[in-house]
Amino acid sequence: MADTDVRKPPIRIGAGVVRIEPKPEWLKVRWGAGPTFNLVEQQLRAHGLHTVCEEAICPNRGECWGRGVATVLIMGDVCTRRCGFCAIGKGRPAALDPNEPAHVAETSAILGARYLVITSVDRDDLPDGGASHFAACIRSVRERTGADVEALIPDFKGSRSALETLLEAQPICLAHSVETVPELYRTVRPGSFYDRSLFVLRMSKEISPGTATKSNIMLGLGETRDGVLRVIDDLREARCDGLTIGQYLAPSRGHLPVREYVHPDAFAELGEIARSKGFTFVASGPLVRSSYKADQQFHGERVGS
Ligand code: SF4
Repeated sequence: MADTDVRKPPIRIGAGVVRIEPKPEWLKVRWGAGPTFNLVEQQLRAHGLHTVCEEAICPNRGECWGRGVATVLIMGDVCTRRCGFCAIGKGRPAALDPNEPAHVAETSAILGARYLVITSVDRDDLPDGGASHFAACIRSVRERTGADVEALIPDFKGSRSALETLLEAQPICLAHSVETVPELYRTVRPGSFYDRSLFVLRMSKEISPGTATKSNIMLGLGETRDGVLRVIDDLREARCDGLTIGQYLAPSRGHLPVREYVHPDAFAELGEIARSKGFTFVASGPLVRSSYKADQQFHGERVGS
């Protein structure tokens, strides 16, 4: 990364700014494949499934797959939006696979998942944004395995009927990530709107008050501490139950650059602030992702700092 990037005005998030290169120790993850990891990989391939673990180049893949946990990415591996932080392919997606719900359920059964996170690409090309297909996948897993399913959804363009369709499938938790502060939406999430994401979370609670909701923020994209505190307040105001906060890592030089490696102490502080605001479950740490130890998060175990 060019020095000019490193020298941008410092933005202090709690414990402070760290130089961009080299990557700090707390973000260095070392892992190797083992039998469980191999089983996960083999089953995903056998059933033709994608995961956000691979598509988003998640640093936790070794740990999660090593525990037999993966987050399934449905409706293809091509997204109709062009978020600057995301490694998932962009363009014109293929038609939906009608067998996908059965394949997700079968894989989930073989892996013995008791809690599965399903997420999807944005499918703005579909009339319902893919909500009915998403719902079919949730139902299929529950009927086949009895597992709890967390749905990490796109915004469905704020469609109430799409959300109703999805919530009728009774995910145990509905997650929708705001990703960043509103000031950065134009560069980080072009084609998406901060207020619409809050609206989706608020509307989910209105439609199904008993379903937990969760959102995620990435740090290190150039946001300010005050901006993050505002997002925390906005999410609580939208009656969001859970919050995850993690470090943004650029998938490649062609993606948005990391502006800051936020110190783990700052994640711990933000996590405590979020807990004090009334979130039921909070996971905050450099390697935390929305789906990282989602089962433990949901059940109130400490994840991250
Ligand atoms: S944190 Fe989520 S996306 Fe990353 S490897 Fe684990 S399950 Fe996959």
